[in-house]
Amino acid sequence: MKTYQQYIDGKFCESHSKDIIEVENPYTGEIIAHAPNGDVEDAEKALEAAEKAQPSWAALPVAERAGYLKKMAQAIRDNRKMLADTLTEEQAKVSGLAQVEIDVTAEYFDYYAGWARKYEGEVIQSDRPKENILLYRQPIGVIVGICPWNFPFFVMARKVAPSLLTGSSIVLKPSSDTPNTTFEFAKLVDQLGLPGGVANFVSGRGSTLGSALVKSPKTGMVTLTGSVEAGQRIIADSAPNITKTSLELGGKAPCIVCKDADLDLAVKAIVASRVIFSGQVCNCAERVYVESAVADEFMAKLTKAMSEVTYGDPFKDPNPDMSTQVNKGQLEKIEAMVAKAKTEGAEVLVGGERPAEMKTGYFYKPTLLGNCSQDMEIIRKEIFGPVLPVVTVSDFDEALALSNDCEYGLTSSVFTTSIEKMMRAINELKFGETYVNREHFEAMQGFHAGWRKSGIGGADGKHGLYEYLQTHVAYIQY
Ligand code: NAD
Repeated sequence: MKTYQQYIDGKFCESHSKDIIEVENPYTGEIIAHAPNGDVEDAEKALEAAEKAQPSWAALPVAERAGYLKKMAQAIRDNRKMLADTLTEEQAKVSGLAQVEIDVTAEYFDYYAGWARKYEGEVIQSDRPKENILLYRQPIGVIVGICPWNFPFFVMARKVAPSLLTGSSIVLKPSSDTPNTTFEFAKLVDQLGLPGGVANFVSGRGSTLGSALVKSPKTGMVTLTGSVEAGQRIIADSAPNITKTSLELGGKAPCIVCKDADLDLAVKAIVASRVIFSGQVCNCAERVYVESAVADEFMAKLTKAMSEVTYGDPFKDPNPDMSTQVNKGQLEKIEAMVAKAKTEGAEVLVGGERPAEMKTGYFYKPTLLGNCSQDMEIIRKEIFGPVLPVVTVSDFDEALALSNDCEYGLTSSVFTTSIEKMMRAINELKFGETYVNREHFEAMQGFHAGWRKSGIGGADGKHGLYEYLQTHVAYIQY
């Protein structure tokens, strides 16, 4: 069993609380690690170190800061198997997907290192003679990054890379379900000669350590990836200091299947988007609207594909399509949502229960629900599991209207061969992202940002980088 310590000011140290969090392997049920259950004092100590380190970090030329990001990318590549195995153990991500997460994370550090000589200020025209107006882009100061359990390594990089590149320091808190990969990364960072206090990694509960990090006046920006409920609490906790927040929250992605769609392609993409990481991905296909003209044919193909989805030991080679839910709470939430959907009239076409043959692990069978309607909880609330509810609609206009009738606004998709419908979907769907004739997954050079309750601000690409900068305008007369 592993024991981790807080990483503050370039040193591993005991938590002030002395309390621990037990990290469970969701497939075997074994306790695989003890991580600190940090408290308010830990938060303050980490923020103090980050605040002290930031000015000299920002004073380094950006290319030097980028050099550390490249070193991080290389350290991840040199340790790719250890990191992927750690990820699989702490959250039952199938090992192939865990390896992809590790590799993409290394690329992400390199990608943002490549922005070093690219981000710019502006020279603005003045109304006065002999005056220049210069707009600088400055670091924010101390960033607090708060991560979820579903992509703990990649989301960590989404916060660390732009913070450090732009000259801020960071205090990063992993989810208490999945602190292991973050602390393994901290051990690698410790070998890179990064100045102490620039990157601090602390673990603890959201309600104690997390809340203290958010409430502190030392914090310049809070970037959270997590649930809507955590986002709401962070907005409330950051209000007294008017601290900037960047929030990437839940989703309820609609997939529209038009009568002119390539149905085989739609089925393949939607199933892949629903069962990847056992359905625990924010941009996953969460609900389907199919035009009635092709509903029978589509449902027959979808039923076959969902019943062929495999599940099992996440280390098994070749991998099953999916494994367990991350913890007991998630499993019980999914069970309760399916039970409620049944009482509301949904028909279970595939799955709908725990698999009896699995003797360990928080498994839920890949599940397909037909006969769903817009008012059901399963169509309105995020499921975050391998359950796909389908609504039959009379036409494309109804599909668009029902897709938009939702408190979330993260991702969406449309399957059609009609350019008219494709363009209408792109122009009329009120979501941060729309995927056309493909599975749900964003690129690091795009911009991942939700509308409505799915968030404020966003990550990735040029626009994600600019979230981490604040402007300073100088009016210069000569
Ligand atoms: P969660 O909200 O329970 O926890 C996320 C993080 O927030 C954890 O580190 C937690 O400790 C912390 N936290 C909770 N309350 C806090 C508070 N009051 N102050 C400070 N920190 C607090 O989410 P989760 O269960 O870990 O992740 C699943 C959720 O994340 C889903 O809703 C999913 O859609 C969302 N998610 C969104 C994206 C995206 O890019 N939009 C990506 C991944 C996950």
